Amino acid sequence: MTYKNLWDLTYKKLKESLPDHAINTWFEPVVPIAIADGELILEVPNQFFYEWIDSHYRQTISGALKDVSSERTRYRFIVSTKGQKKELDDLNSSTKSNQSKNQQPPNINKQYTFESFIEGTNNEFAKTASQSVAEEPGKSSFNPLIIYGGVGLGKTHLLHAIGNRVFQNNPSANVVIVTSERFTLDFVNSLRKNRTIEFSQQYRNSDVLLIDDIQFFRGKEQTQEQFFHTFNVLYQSGKQIVMTADKYPGEMKGLKERLLSRFQSGLSVDVQPPNFEVRVAILLDKAEQNGLALDYDIIEFIARHIKNNVRDLEGAIIRILAKSSLMNKEIDFSLVKDVIKERVGASFTSDISIEDIVRKVSDVSRVPENEIIGKSRKMELVEARQISMYLCRDIMGISLQNIGVYFGGRDHTTVMHAVKTINNKSLKDVRIKKMVESLKQELDFRFV
Ligand code: ADP
Ligand code: MG
Repeated sequence: MTYKNLWDLTYKKLKESLPDHAINTWFEPVVPIAIADGELILEVPNQFFYEWIDSHYRQTISGALKDVSSERTRYRFIVSTKGQKKELDDLNSSTKSNQSKNQQPPNINKQYTFESFIEGTNNEFAKTASQSVAEEPGKSSFNPLIIYGGVGLGKTHLLHAIGNRVFQNNPSANVVIVTSERFTLDFVNSLRKNRTIEFSQQYRNSDVLLIDDIQFFRGKEQTQEQFFHTFNVLYQSGKQIVMTADKYPGEMKGLKERLLSRFQSGLSVDVQPPNFEVRVAILLDKAEQNGLALDYDIIEFIARHIKNNVRDLEGAIIRILAKSSLMNKEIDFSLVKDVIKERVGASFTSDISIEDIVRKVSDVSRVPENEIIGKSRKMELVEARQISMYLCRDIMGISLQNIGVYFGGRDHTTVMHAVKTINNKSLKDVRIKKMVESLKQELDFRFV
């Protein structure tokens, strides 16, 4: 058997037991090179790749190989040198071309662009203001621009997007981007080394100064003083300053009054938590970026449970990927449910309402919502109504009395009867059983 055939068979074997994305991520890029001394030599793209695949799939690969080969063939990875050469080439050519051109600020995140920033009512004003500042730095009255709001809502992303855009429009612009912690650290170091003049120059020569998380200046009086001077120099020469903060500047404690009043002479814009639609859009985007094809139902499910911040949405996608890789499991509802449960803990499923239940039952049974909660006693209506009552009791634990009130002012004994009926029927009647199960699954993943 040739080494190619042997790997083909092994690959097919692996495909039977591993999830698609694991195959795509970790096995698609593997290239069989040769058989030497009873070893199948497999080339992988880089060292990281090698370490991952070796630590996670060693036994799986050995097993598959054993299954498909009659002789006792072993295997060994080698790391491709192509990638390294390319990186080296890139480095060489970029050093050359950079002699004439200004270099992109090294600490700017190229991924954080306006294009990759999903807009919604929660952040559109902040995004528009950032864009306009990036297009014409220092020219508008948005100086300084302050983007403020809670954690994980895209402030740092916007700050870098401004940097990227300014640089894109004008590669010779001196874009300085730092966190306030870095600024403080540099300042303190310059004091220690008697290099405060160099320190000032470094910042005062910038065309655009982007400072992240200014709340960390809190209580650091000397740093604030230094920043105040830098700020004034830049401001007076019409240079753009953009800052991010966790609160509206007027409400920040521990910052000097004159600093705060300076800040408020520009424009302050806030970022708010994303609403449901924006969360779905962000999840679709992040899943795509990670090469992850998630069912829309799963996306909605995540969006329904993770609400406060974009970083957590991203985190959920990463965890789903990691969990599925590590445990060799396909990404399905139960895996996603586990991940989300770990994230949100007790608040899980807290946002289901009676309306949600009635709407879902109406979808499935095709009985209109108003009929389900209405008075009619027609057979097909009664069943949909009983199922709805049962689910309200079972999933939400609402009292019989309150359920009765909601469903057309019925007595609690009627509700009790409904719950019992569905309980019994779902033991005997496969159709009802299936229906109840799938409704529960869609409404509440604890029951999957
Ligand atoms: P903050 O600085 O407000 O704490 P970040 O800018 O670090 O938040 O955002 C956290 C993560 O969420 C980042 O990876 C960022 O790219 C992403 N993110 C935040 N808002 C958006 C958005 N509107 N569209 C796309 N990604 C976003
Ligand atoms: Mg940030």
